[in-house]
Amino acid sequence: MKLVFASNNKNKIKEIQLLLPSSIQVLSLEDIGCQEEIPETANTIEGNAILKANYITEKYGYNCFADDTGLEVAVLNGAPGVYSARYAGEQKDANDNMDKLLANLKDKSNRKANFKTVICLNLNGEQTLFTGIIHGQIIEEKIGANGFGYDPIFVADGYTKTFAELTIEEKSLISHRGLAVKQLVDFLK
Ligand code: IMP
Repeated sequence: MKLVFASNNKNKIKEIQLLLPSSIQVLSLEDIGCQEEIPETANTIEGNAILKANYITEKYGYNCFADDTGLEVAVLNGAPGVYSARYAGEQKDANDNMDKLLANLKDKSNRKANFKTVICLNLNGEQTLFTGIIHGQIIEEKIGANGFGYDPIFVADGYTKTFAELTIEEKSLISHRGLAVKQLVDFLK
């Protein structure tokens, strides 16, 4: 079976292909000749995952899944949430995003936050959503050089290291994306 992952992120695609049985072939957007920017205009993480998956299924007719992720900070009413990538502007710069978040949390004692990934799967006319959440805290400075995005300022509950101090393997075992992908893989198997 061919299954499109609505992404051109080669690392994510490789990671997921390795977790799936070889009877399922994961195709990227490039593989199906989709070069246009897929609209991500919903105002929730779920909404964007659904928009992306439906775009591919409706326009290209493939079974497909799409993911969307955000960091939700409790004291900021869930911001940056669905706007995590462009929190500090359209340049989508991770350092600028972290600086803005640290400034907005200055002097705040409640630093609770969670990452959330939603995967939307469109398979043979049925739609299923998978959600992975990891809870933790935003610390006061950036620590660590691994990972991406907000990893240097996020410490998962029960840990002392930031996500940017964990190896990819350590992070995938507990991360929002890892948890959502595991549910997708179990479902497909
Ligand atoms: P996307 O939906 O996977 O593209 O993620 C949207 C944005 O959320 C990214 O641009 C990052 O700013 C942030 N983000 C997503 N996943 C992670 C993660 O695992 N660690 C840190 N930041 C992340």
